[in-house]
Amino acid sequence: MRWLNRTCKETAALLIAREDRLLPWADRLALRAHMLVCEACPRFEKQVLHMRSAMRQWRNYTTLDGS
Ligand SMILES: [Zn+2]
Repeated sequence: MRWLNRTCKETAALLIAREDRLLPWADRLALRAHMLVCEACPRFEKQVLHMRSAMRQWRNYTTLDGS
């Protein structure tokens, strides 16, 4: 199961990459596996999700502005 062992650094990179593109299933699985054993990365994921919704609101705002 060596390939399931991701470091926090790799997991953080995956979480960010996931915002832009669909990850291969192996990466998604490794991500989930790491989330189960790590305390820091789920916290980081929350931040990424929060950032995503903030970005969406910002985009909507600039679109509505229309200029
Ligand atoms: Zn971690």
